[in-house]
Amino acid sequence: MRPLEMKCDSAEESQNSEAAQLKMSKSNTILTLLQGCNSLQRLKKIHAHVIINGLQHHPAISNKLLYFCATSVAGSLSHAQLLFNQIQNPQTQAWNSLIRGFAQSPSPLQAIFYYNYMLLVSLSRPDTFTFSFTLKACERVKALNKCQELHGSVIKCGFETCVVVCTGVIRCYAANGLIETAGLVFDKMSERDLVSWNCMISCYSQGGFHVEALGVYERMRNEKVGLDGFTLVGLLSSCAHVGAFNMGVYLHRIASEMGVLGNVFVGNALIDMYAKCGDLDSALCVFNRMKKRDVLTWNSIVFGYGVHGRGDTAIDFFRQMLMAGFQPNSITFLGLLCGCNHQGLVEEGVEYFQMMISKFNLKPGIKHYGCMVDLYGRAGMLEKALEVISSSPSKDCPVLWRTLLGSCKIHRNVEMGEIAMRNLVQLGASSAGDYVLLATIYAASKDPEGVARMRKLMKSKGIKTTPGWSWIEVGEKMHRFVVDDKSHPDTEMIYLKLEEVILRARSVGYVEEKSLFALPGSSSEDCLESSSAYHSERLAIAFGLASTPEGTDLRIVKNLRVCRDCHLFTKFVSKAFKRHIIVRDRVRYHHFRDGLCSCGDYW
Ligand code: ZN
Ligand code: ZN
Repeated sequence: MRPLEMKCDSAEESQNSEAAQLKMSKSNTILTLLQGCNSLQRLKKIHAHVIINGLQHHPAISNKLLYFCATSVAGSLSHAQLLFNQIQNPQTQAWNSLIRGFAQSPSPLQAIFYYNYMLLVSLSRPDTFTFSFTLKACERVKALNKCQELHGSVIKCGFETCVVVCTGVIRCYAANGLIETAGLVFDKMSERDLVSWNCMISCYSQGGFHVEALGVYERMRNEKVGLDGFTLVGLLSSCAHVGAFNMGVYLHRIASEMGVLGNVFVGNALIDMYAKCGDLDSALCVFNRMKKRDVLTWNSIVFGYGVHGRGDTAIDFFRQMLMAGFQPNSITFLGLLCGCNHQGLVEEGVEYFQMMISKFNLKPGIKHYGCMVDLYGRAGMLEKALEVISSSPSKDCPVLWRTLLGSCKIHRNVEMGEIAMRNLVQLGASSAGDYVLLATIYAASKDPEGVARMRKLMKSKGIKTTPGWSWIEVGEKMHRFVVDDKSHPDTEMIYLKLEEVILRARSVGYVEEKSLFALPGSSSEDCLESSSAYHSERLAIAFGLASTPEGTDLRIVKNLRVCRDCHLFTKFVSKAFKRHIIVRDRVRYHHFRDGLCSCGDYW
């Protein structure tokens, strides 16, 4: 090679490298600019620079620009689509940006569309992120078929061992109502991280599978997996639902050891758990120690006192909440109304109902109207209760009429009871419980014909009753009983104990209330059967008394209303055995102590 040529070559080379350097420094500048960009306007300006400098096909820049546009607050999905269309042969990363953006947007279906499109037209293959974001979209739009198809693709593409993807599959199945399938996927995972354990707990908990949620924790303990604030919040929520008090107390201790009591979510979950398990003192204790509170904290305490019938205390907390500068929401008012309702504070209840609308601009929901119907109904102002229903936007809602029917039972008002029943029948929503309520009203007003009519109606309409069950926690384990239950391993002992309990209740004055009639389908507790001797809560009480030390509180959760005779029975048991018995039934909380119940016999 001659020297001249060499010189020439090297000049060209240096020129080329100069251009490359310039381009690189420009692209670096643009990437840095993108980093600090916080508005769509600026983003568009940067985009303009990209085009002017001929960098629109620079892969790092176009990907970054797209990612930023699709997923950040300053971005815009329609602009992102525009950018995407300009990319020649978009790689997986570019598809992911768009799928991710749409999966989180108000139109998650678009994410699924882009996933399908990617498989159809592109040579790029889906990766961990593609699957995770598409699954997220399926979770949001409740697309079960797509969820199953994705699960298949996950296996086919070899992502079955990827913890992140599998956790997404679990969430997606659970959101689509296939909790058991979600559980199977979880069981099959070869490796799990804390996120996947937490995910399984929250899926069970949100799906109403509370005992299963607590069971996951058992496994975590056995497998020596640690836990964090999310684990605690999920578990406490399940404890609250099934009344797993001892487990809740244990988790409280763990939270304290972990030093996460300052976490506002953990604090709120603890208040909720203690309140729902009937221990308001402990709920208050947690509340008082919280340094940081949010609206949920206040709601939990107002609601806690409200549902336990302590309306005046709920009102006190509501005032404190306002003074602390928090804006109440519809849940706060629900707690207040509930409290006023159970304590018979009619004037206050009406005042807060109006305040909610006029002062805080909140629209009352069906539950608020239900509280008002109940408030007037309990106080015997049945005409007013009827007025509330007629003037509410939800007069087609069976719950309101059922609430009125319940009040008619307390006040033995046949006429109004029949109006409520007529509406329930017209709405096609009459249930076994409703017929039983009306039959009870007839029975109480000595109208055997009315009772017979109800019995006949139920039979002719083939109305099935809801099976009653009760939960009780002994140690950290939940035990479930149905009427006449013989499935518990300690059945023999339980029935023997129940005989003793009945005898001791009688010795302090308990006399069985003879049922005035029997309705068909008498294996259910929704009916006033000929015998209430083996109702589920009695079996739970006998088991509780036999398996806990003297003086231990008994906490029972029941899915139906407690029947009259069981209510009476429990009062005498609390006296005979000197036990505090807390029963949460479908309607309210009953604290039985020394022969009395906190509901004052109105429920
Ligand atoms: Zn009963
Ligand atoms: Zn009661």
